[in-house]
Amino acid sequence: MQKLNSSKEIKELSSKWQNSGQKVGFVPTMGNLHKGHLSLIEEAKLQCDLVVVSIFVNPEQFGPNEDFKEYPRNEASDNQLCQQAGVDVLWFPTEEQIYPQGFSTYAQEEDLSRCLCGKSRHDHFRGVCTVLTILFNLIRPHKVFLGQKDAQQTLIVKKMIKDWHLPLEAVVCPSIRESDGLAMSSRNANLSREQRAQSAVIYQSLTAAKELIQEGKTDASRIAGEINHILTKKRLLRVIYIEIVSKKTLKPLKNIETGNTLIALAVWLGSIRLIDNIEV
Ligand code: AMP
Repeated sequence: MQKLNSSKEIKELSSKWQNSGQKVGFVPTMGNLHKGHLSLIEEAKLQCDLVVVSIFVNPEQFGPNEDFKEYPRNEASDNQLCQQAGVDVLWFPTEEQIYPQGFSTYAQEEDLSRCLCGKSRHDHFRGVCTVLTILFNLIRPHKVFLGQKDAQQTLIVKKMIKDWHLPLEAVVCPSIRESDGLAMSSRNANLSREQRAQSAVIYQSLTAAKELIQEGKTDASRIAGEINHILTKKRLLRVIYIEIVSKKTLKPLKNIETGNTLIALAVWLGSIRLIDNIEV
């Protein structure tokens, strides 16, 4: 595994890849890697000749009162996991490499970014689109591998690729979960034991919603109400949103449309914000 130290190095490598015709797969992450990230790397290895992983806790996607400082970082373990997973190139960019002094150009998707998480995290997706544009331009991958766990993010990135005719394809991989159903997330490392125990209810509420739909219930507000009822039984958990939307447009649905429904939610467990979703 090659470790990079500068954006100059990645530019030189990407020119080499372009000339040699190798297919480059890219897995952008914020580190503290877990099996969810590793599943993206595995898929990238299957579909591409070379896999590049970036690990960068992107300050531009955190709001002023969010957990940028507390976000779990673990460079030693990330290194080891990437090595074991057969990553070809690993890059921990510094803030200065991504946003050099005087940086002033941002990427903003204006439609899908406004709903779901965008309502409470105003510049979050602007930060995501900006960092990805920079990384795409430096690495010039053929495919980027993203997790369904961040369903809204996958749609926004796909939209940006389409709107800007970026020469790459987004591949979306399924959500990887703990044995009790909690979607794996780097932030889970910050949950206390009690919070971790209560967090299992997130996926339980989504599973219960799926069962109601399978029984023939189609009224979205009733299903959202049921999810809310299940979640609010847990004392440590506060609901940020529960939304039932079109999985293509993220616009709210009144009735479940089989094959086109995304049930997405965000909650607080103490000061830790967790998201999850299922498609129906
Ligand atoms: P993050 O490091 O949280 O920014 O995530 C980096 C990439 O890993 C994103 O494309 C996420 O959607 C994906 N990812 C995070 N958690 C999971 C998971 N539990 N299952 C699958 N993909 C995930």
